[in-house]
Amino acid sequence: MADNLILGIDLGTTNSLAAVMTPTGPEIVRDADGASLVPSVIAFGAGGVTVGAEARAHAVENPTATVYSVKRLMGKSVDDLARVMDVLPYDVTPGKHDTVCVNVQGRHMSPQELSAIILRDIKTRAEAICQPGQKITRAVITVPAYFDDSQRQATRDAGRIAGLEVCRIVNEPTAAALAYGLDRAEDACIAVYDLGGGTFDVSILRVSGGVFEVLSTQGDTQLGGDDLDRELINLLTEEIRSQFGAELQFPPATRQALRTFAEATKVRLSTEESATVEVALGGGRVFTRTITRDEFESLASKWVDHTIEHCARALRDADLGPQDIDQVVMVGGSTRVPLVRSKTKDFFQREPYTAVNPDEIVALGAAVQAGILAGIKRDTLLLDVTPLSLGIETLGGAVGKLIMRNSTIPCQAAETFSTYVDGQTSVDIHVLQGERELAKDCRSLGKFQLTGIPPMPAGAPRVQVSFMLDANGILGVSAKELRSGKAASVQITPAHGLTHDEIDSMVQESYAHAIEDLNAHRLIDLRNESERILVAIDKAIETSGHVLSDQQRQALDAAVADLKTKRQQDDCDAVYEAMGAANEAATPLTEAQMDDVLSQTVKGRKMDDV
Ligand code: ADP
Ligand code: MG
Repeated sequence: MADNLILGIDLGTTNSLAAVMTPTGPEIVRDADGASLVPSVIAFGAGGVTVGAEARAHAVENPTATVYSVKRLMGKSVDDLARVMDVLPYDVTPGKHDTVCVNVQGRHMSPQELSAIILRDIKTRAEAICQPGQKITRAVITVPAYFDDSQRQATRDAGRIAGLEVCRIVNEPTAAALAYGLDRAEDACIAVYDLGGGTFDVSILRVSGGVFEVLSTQGDTQLGGDDLDRELINLLTEEIRSQFGAELQFPPATRQALRTFAEATKVRLSTEESATVEVALGGGRVFTRTITRDEFESLASKWVDHTIEHCARALRDADLGPQDIDQVVMVGGSTRVPLVRSKTKDFFQREPYTAVNPDEIVALGAAVQAGILAGIKRDTLLLDVTPLSLGIETLGGAVGKLIMRNSTIPCQAAETFSTYVDGQTSVDIHVLQGERELAKDCRSLGKFQLTGIPPMPAGAPRVQVSFMLDANGILGVSAKELRSGKAASVQITPAHGLTHDEIDSMVQESYAHAIEDLNAHRLIDLRNESERILVAIDKAIETSGHVLSDQQRQALDAAVADLKTKRQQDDCDAVYEAMGAANEAATPLTEAQMDDVLSQTVKGRKMDDV
């Protein structure tokens, strides 16, 4: 990484993380396990100070020596004290010059010093992935749009204490919009909906000439994912008491476990229809409970409705209506909750942007801003045409292209596919980018699953896959089974992480491999087709095998065996010939089946019933 490296930091209430700008775009700083989020929690123990997941894991058991949500204290005055103290279990007291500070077992620390502990940890993590010995000295740090001057100044000070020159303080919603490249939009209004762990805010931005202006901002600093956890904790506690006795006490370890389980359950319910919790209560007592998505949504609904009221207020403040909003951007881990997405979509009457990971988007945007400040040339991929084809993986590892390279954007395309196995209830959709004919040679953009298809014979379901590439280069892929109405979708940023050079070389490679690729694709098609024929012959033998003479049966068995061998090999023409031979040998069966059908029709049954 270059010397002019500037770290982009999202210093969050719940989680903090960093990203850096690279020639292929911003990249999140991850540890060896791939984790990016550092819980904004600091634990003071006998063994020293710990930051992050480790500190958070023991927060309930160690309430007075664990400091979290320190962002809530940044730049606050003694007058604000009552309000913040109510919600924090550790000791917040007046500090120097009308400020507040935290008293951890007699040690007084300012919010700036505490935030600096987190920032230093983030900086160390980033240095670990730099060249050996490289130090990071500069950063861009994000803050909520509603932060006032003293809160912004406190954030700058925290950076300085951590040994970072803060090159710029950027609004979180602006960073989110930057991560989507919306600074290049002509003249647009953007709503940024940010639901984090403990806070909610919505900002209406106007972008024009690459400059963002905050038209309005609304929110609730006491509303977030934690409230959803609390709803689940309350539900579990009540049920545990009614099952095991009202007098049951919950020691800190059990409370910590409940909190951990509640959050894990919530997270699971973002992708699954139900989740099961099992709590060991000591003395061999175990409480088990399965919670469904519907049940969770009825608990979460009122919180989500509050956020929507704030959205309405923010629009009113900006003198706009939902129809004036060109783009809605989702930010914050809690926007993964499907109910949050659907209610936001209903309110703004448009599909919100979710393609960029909602808990990493602010850090990515901070890195984009850092890149601009450092003068790193952005290899912008904002083009009027899509530089590479987009498609999905089809049976056997081939690629079905829906949008061809050089199509003018915005554009859309749809194609209908079916299932290949009887009773298949789900289909995997693998979205690919590139010019090659085989999935393994293309760039994988994402995968999702369409589930809940009612069991039908192979070929009966009709799965329509639609691609919609919008003017900002965001790709929406949806899959819908037309008979049952079951649908699933995903959003992707196809241009992220690609340079012009890479695109050129992907196109060149497709020329170099054109003939070989064509053959490979044809072979897959032939193998799929021969599989279909083999299954059909098997079925026909079962129902009408008796019509074959010994000689015909031997000939058919030989043709089937030959086709099975040939389709394992790589010779397209040989498979094609063997297919023809097998079909030919099966003619007596096909004819017998036709006769069957006819005689049943004559008996007065409709063709459809057969
Ligand atoms: P902040 O901006 O407040 O620091 P984040 O944006 O990191 O916070 O959001 C943290 C919140 O997101 C937590 O309440 C966490 O439980 C929630 N969260 C993270 N992933 C999911 C998920 N898959 N489903 C539901 N909630 C999630
Ligand atoms: Mg945040």
